[in-house]
Amino acid sequence: CGISGYLGTEPAGRIVHQGLKNLEYRGYDSAGIALVGDTLTITKTEGEVDELPVPTQDDITCGIGHTRWSTHGEPTEANAHPHTDCTGEVAVVHNGIIENYDALKASLRDDHVFKSDTDTEVIPHLIETHLADDVDLLTAVQRTTDQLEGSYAIAVTAAGYDGIVVARQDSPLLLGHADDATFIGSDATAFIEHTDRVTYLESGDIAHITREGVEIYNHGERVERDVETLEWD
Ligand code: GLU
Repeated sequence: CGISGYLGTEPAGRIVHQGLKNLEYRGYDSAGIALVGDTLTITKTEGEVDELPVPTQDDITCGIGHTRWSTHGEPTEANAHPHTDCTGEVAVVHNGIIENYDALKASLRDDHVFKSDTDTEVIPHLIETHLADDVDLLTAVQRTTDQLEGSYAIAVTAAGYDGIVVARQDSPLLLGHADDATFIGSDATAFIEHTDRVTYLESGDIAHITREGVEIYNHGERVERDVETLEWD
């Protein structure tokens, strides 16, 4: 239901957690955060964001978070996002519905162990299969979105990867820009106290967020999207 993400210089856990609090008004049944260091640190909870401990690893400056409104699978901790692949090194949060998840899951089942009942979990496992071909995370996400049918806004990160890849198709997602940080939100309330400079991603967009900045692609082509200033009532 809600996505919050951060790559910058401040403690990511606190910022992403506050972002999830800001998104509570949308309604949700569970929540979770992934922080990115040499390994991923994932915390999840059934129920309220307040039940999710505020991460205290203040040296970690990259993270993604999610508030879930279940469509596939009960609102349990196991079904809460972020979801991971078999290696536990790829983390994905997702808003929307993957319509062809059943067929994708069937194609993966021989080699992949699934830990949830969600449609979402096929995404990290598909990314894992592409990473095994020795491509980078951006390419692996591009190849994965080519396989997905349905609606999604996703944020993806990986252990030891100082960046985030996001993609959207028919579910909203925007970026917030500050001098030395990039924010991710399913709507601007996720990060409104930090910046009013935003980029609305279009359907089919995949954005690569790194310390060097943001690059946006649509069907493999590099595209430019405007940076707008939010008009806030
Ligand atoms: N379909 C996904 C799930 O049930 C995501 C739901 C959402 O948008 O929060 O886990």
